[in-house]
Amino acid sequence: MLSISHGLTGALIASKIPNPYISVPLVLLSHYIEDRVPHWDIGQGLSKKDKSKKIAFLQELFVDFPLSILAVFLVFQVGRPFNWAAWLGWFIALLPDFLEFPYLFLNMKFFPIKQLANLHKWAHRSTPDKLWGLLPQLLVILLVLLLK
Ligand SMILES: [Zn+2]
Repeated sequence: MLSISHGLTGALIASKIPNPYISVPLVLLSHYIEDRVPHWDIGQGLSKKDKSKKIAFLQELFVDFPLSILAVFLVFQVGRPFNWAAWLGWFIALLPDFLEFPYLFLNMKFFPIKQLANLHKWAHRSTPDKLWGLLPQLLVILLVLLLK
């Protein structure tokens, strides 16, 4: 899913469950469960070479990633003291994507990067259909707003 969906989910879980020994594994699990739902994201088209790695990287860096920071800031930070749990949740929720970065963009295909990328790939279900691929993510965002 998009970073905004993962990041908000992680921030929600970590904000609601103060014990990091419980929240951190749950946040990590949430990433793989969300990726299992057929979705559209920035990486769509990479495997079929419809989109270049450079374009995907730039869209991720300048659109999706900053939007996830802005969303967590607006939903979990504004008007409160520093919400470390929300930011930890945001970071952990994006960790599987951060760890796949060297595999996808720097061609680093060795242990444990390759194995982590394979796990991520195994969990990942995507669709080229933007409407049906973005709808579950809109629902995730709405749920976060309802439950925050
Ligand atoms: Zn992912």
